[in-house]
Amino acid sequence: MYNISSELTMLNQKYGLVGFKQKDGYVFYGDLKLNHKYNGIVLQNDLYISMFVPFLYPNELPIVKDITKKIDCTFHKNKNDILCLACDAEMFLDLKTRKNVTISDFIERYLLPYLYSYTYYKKCGEVPFGDREHGAVGIIDFYKSYFNLANRSTALQFLEYISLKKYRGHNLCPCGSGKKIRNCHGIDLINLIKKIGINNVYNDYNMCLEEINYTKQLDKRKKC
Ligand SMILES: [Zn+2]
Ligand SMILES: [Zn+2]
Repeated sequence: MYNISSELTMLNQKYGLVGFKQKDGYVFYGDLKLNHKYNGIVLQNDLYISMFVPFLYPNELPIVKDITKKIDCTFHKNKNDILCLACDAEMFLDLKTRKNVTISDFIERYLLPYLYSYTYYKKCGEVPFGDREHGAVGIIDFYKSYFNLANRSTALQFLEYISLKKYRGHNLCPCGSGKKIRNCHGIDLINLIKKIGINNVYNDYNMCLEEINYTKQLDKRKKC
C-alpha cells in the first residue's frame, strides 16, 4: 500500500500544499502554481485547491476542488466545483500500472496539465492538446478507442457486458462481429478488467446511464 505520509514534506515544499490527516485519507490545501512550458509557450497561473487523497490511492482517485470557483463552467468541471481532470478509467489505467506511484505523479500528470490546458484555453480560445468531451460521451469515447470500436453504441455495449455479465469465453463478443468473445476482444477485455477493476467499469457504466437518462428528460444539460 502506498504511504502518503512519506510525501507530506515534499508536497509542501514543492507545491505549497499543506496536508491534514482525516478518516479515509489526507486533505491538502494550497495555492497551486503553474509555470509550464509546452511547445515553446510558457504559461503562468495559480489555482487555490483542496485535494482529497484516499488512503487507497491509486486504487481510488484523488478529488480536487476549485475552492475559489476560478475555473469557469465552459471548461471541464463537475458538480461541487470538482475538477474533471480526465476520464477515471484513463487515470486508473495510467496510475495503477506505474511503479511506485506517488501523489506528485498525479499532480504532474493530471493537475498541472489541467491548469495549463485551462490557462491556454482562456488565452487562445482552444485547448493545447487533445481533449475528450465532458461527461458520459468522454467516458464512452475512452472505451471506444481502448477496444478500437467503430461507434459509441458498441462501446456502451462493452460497458454493459463488463458491468452486468460474467465473462464467458464462448459468449458472443459485444462488438457484434458474430465471433466468440475469446476469439475476438476477449484478451483486451480481460486485461482492462485486471488493470482498472470491474467496480470502476461498473461506476462508469452507471454514470453513462444516469447521464443518458438525464439528457433524455431535459433538452439542455447544465454543466455546473
Ligand atoms: Zn470533463
Ligand atoms: Zn469483438
